[in-house]
This record gives sequence, structure tokens and C-alpha cells, in this order.
Amino acid sequence: IWNNCLQTIRQNVDPQSFQTWFAPIRPVALESNELTIQVPHRLFYEWLEEHYIDVLKTSLNQALGTSGRLQYRINPNRQEKAASPSTKNGKSNGSIPGHQPAPGNPFVIPGVKRPRIPSNLDTRYTFDNFIEGDCNSLARNAAKAVADNPGNTAFNPLVIHGNVGLGKTHLLQAVGNYISNKFPEKAVLYVSTDTFTNQLVSSIGSNTTNDLVNWYQNVDVLLVDDIQQLVKRKKTQDVFFNLFNVLRQNNKAVVMTCDRPIIELDIEERLRSRFQWGLSADLSMPALETRMAILNSKALSTEVDIPAEVAEFICFHIQHNIRQLEGVLNNLVLHKGVRGDDSIDLKLAKEVLKNFVSEINKEVTPDVIQRTVADYYDLEVEKLASSTRRRHVVLARQISMFLVKEYTDQSLKAIGRMFGGRDHSTVLYSIKTVRDLMETNDEIKKALGELERKIRIG
Ligand code: ADP
Ligand code: MG
Repeated sequence: IWNNCLQTIRQNVDPQSFQTWFAPIRPVALESNELTIQVPHRLFYEWLEEHYIDVLKTSLNQALGTSGRLQYRINPNRQEKAASPSTKNGKSNGSIPGHQPAPGNPFVIPGVKRPRIPSNLDTRYTFDNFIEGDCNSLARNAAKAVADNPGNTAFNPLVIHGNVGLGKTHLLQAVGNYISNKFPEKAVLYVSTDTFTNQLVSSIGSNTTNDLVNWYQNVDVLLVDDIQQLVKRKKTQDVFFNLFNVLRQNNKAVVMTCDRPIIELDIEERLRSRFQWGLSADLSMPALETRMAILNSKALSTEVDIPAEVAEFICFHIQHNIRQLEGVLNNLVLHKGVRGDDSIDLKLAKEVLKNFVSEINKEVTPDVIQRTVADYYDLEVEKLASSTRRRHVVLARQISMFLVKEYTDQSLKAIGRMFGGRDHSTVLYSIKTVRDLMETNDEIKKALGELERKIRIG
């Protein structure tokens, strides 16, 4: 039955997702029309329910008819006693036979204290201060699952990949910090691939490579940052391959980060295929709202107050790299310190941003205002200077005049000229009308708020 389901599913999801989310599922029971499947970890269940519920339903209906039901069971061989998921009619986890606990590390002699492993962790990076969004939820949840249950074979290894500055190191460190707190007896080690290579090179020089490798084999949780640095390093790849195998055989957790998907990583095939045994999760650039949340959370710890409009301006322009977001913030703090207690405003933000992004919005000119308003009201720009008296054109024209007066230092006379040669009393009247409308008409007030935002940040 399950094989039938899988066939249907295979037709409906892409191969990578199939491999990740469906291949590890085992059917465990079928009673009348109820199929029970076992998933390796709670995250699987949640992810399936959230993303693949329709596919699952369709496949089940085809295999068991419309009254078919599905039960999940989480592999009971996990240390984490996951609460019974509340499925359609929540059945608790039974136990299944099989799966012997892994043998102890053959390299540790019983009774001999293991060498102390320095963790190299930076305690500033935690799950608590990692802001979650669509851009990172799979990676974040998978990392948390590993941290809750290190050695969890479904995610071993876990590979977090993504471009520079998107939080890979942060998540990797968070796994380590979390495990160090929750399981203090576990030896956690964070190492960058470069550091590992350097250690290896110097051990070769001093003929101590065996010691180095034995020492690494004592680690319970190995966190390897930036494995793209394995490329073109044949010797490091070989040693790492053996180390990886020993660790994994002993159910030790391995989490790695990479600046590209593993498939694109130019390393030995045997290593690449092993890296794909577990789970690969990517980080992408957060959407504007998530960027705002990240900036706000970082700003909290700096004791500076960033007005919302400034925060939005900054986040709007920083579009590729969260580290830059922090850079801008640090610069603002610095400037503020230099200037005394001048508050942080758009002008200062603009100055600072110039060092980070090449193109920030040009000065606000009458032209920018006219185009923005025309776009907003879905008019051609020329209409604003025309003699049309159609109501919404008149309104758009009045609003444009008002904004030009607010944002530029044009005189009433000059404004009249740019709006089709109207005289200055007409301009004055228009400005007053808009001001009145703002007091009395919520819709206009809202429109103006939005227009001002667009004019400022593009
Ligand atoms: P990478 O290793 O991918 O180059 P980092 O982990 O060094 O990136 O992240 C760069 C900076 O951005 C770090 O200071 C990190 O704390 C911050 N950062 C990235 N993503 C988030 C997030 N979702 N929440 C909070 N901070 C984040
Ligand atoms: Mg990094």
C-alpha cells in the first residue's frame, strides 16, 4: 500500500523533496483502512503536515479509498520523547523492534578520561536571538532538532547552505551553544574548515596526524563551518572522509555549513554523496519584515533608538546580506557617539548607507514626487499639469503640490509653473485643501503616509 502511495507522491513532488521527506518514511502497520507510517523525527511530521498534506491525502485516497486514514509514528529509537502528534485521531507512539544502539567509540579506552575538547563556541549566537522567517525556517528547525537530539540519524549530517552573511555561522554556533547547555557531558567542537586544514598540515609536519584524528574522534558533536573550503584540498578531504565515517558510525552529530548546495560542491564524489545522507537546508535573504525584526532585535542590545522610518529605510536598501545590516547599525551607533546626542534620522542613515550600497535613492525632487503620485493614482504624469478637472486627477494634482511644497524648497510660484502654469493662489488653495483632508479623511491620510514612504525610500 505504502509503495502505491509513494508512486503517487513521486509524481507530485520534486525529486529532491521526495528524497528528503518521503524516502525515509517506513510503513509500520495497516489496520482496516488505517495506515501507520513511521517518520524519523518530529520535524518530519510537522513538515509533512504543513507542506505535503494534500499530496499525502491524494495518494492515500488512491490507495485506500476516500475513507483511508493516516497515522504518524515518530521513530521511538530517538532519545527525544516526542509528544504524540495530534493527528486525525492521535495515537500514541508504540515501540518497534530492531535498531541496536551503536557500539561505543572504539578509539576511547574504557576508564581513561577523554581529552578535554575546547568547544570554540561564541556564546553570542543562540537560537533565542536568531529571528525566524520563511527564509530560514527549515534550516532553523532542523538545527534545533539536531540540538535537541544530537546524533539523530535523519539529520546526520545536517548541512546548512546559503550565501555569505545570511546566518550560517550563527545557526551552527547556536546548535553548539544549545547542546553545551542542555547536554554538558557532550563534547562539542566548532571548527572552520580552514582551521581544520591548518591543523592537519601542521600535524603532517610534526608526524602527529594520527593523534589529531584520534582526538577529533572523541568529539560528540562536530560543527564544521564553510566546507566549501574543502575544494581543491585533496588531503583534507581524505582525512575528513575517514573522520566523518567514524563519527557517523558512532552516532555522533555532524553539522556543516557551505556557501553553496552540496551538489555544486566540487569535492570527491564519495564525500559528496555522504554529505547528502542527511538533510540539506538552505538559508535565503529574509523578506523586508524579517529584516526589520532582525535590525530591531540587534538595535535593542545597542541602547540606541532607531525610529521606525529609519529602520525601514535601512532594511529596504540592504537586500543581500544580514551582516551589512549589522554594519550599518554599528556605524550609526558610532556616528551618534561622535555627534553627541543627535538622534538618528534619515539623513544620517543615508550617509551611512552610502558606504554599504551603491545606489540609494536620489534626492527627492518635484519630478520624483510627481511620478510617484501619478503611479499611485494610476495616471500619466502629464495629467497632473493638464487642465482636466476630473475629480481624482484634481486630488492627485493637489496632493502632488502639497508634497512638493513639503519636500522641496520650491516657491508657490514655481510650483504653479510646474503644474501647468497655475497661479500661486491656486497652489496655496490646493495645499490647504490637502491639509484639511488629512485631518478629516482617513483614506487620504493613509494615502499620504504611503506616498511619503514611497517618495523617501523608492
Ligand atoms: P554566514 O556565516 O552565513 O556568512 P553569519 O552567521 O556570520 O553569516 O551571519 C551574519 C550576521 O547576521 C551575524 O551577526 C548573525 O547574527 C546575523 N544574522 C543572520 N541571520 C540572522 C537571523 N535570522 N536573526 C538574527 N541575526 C541574524
Ligand atoms: Mg560564516
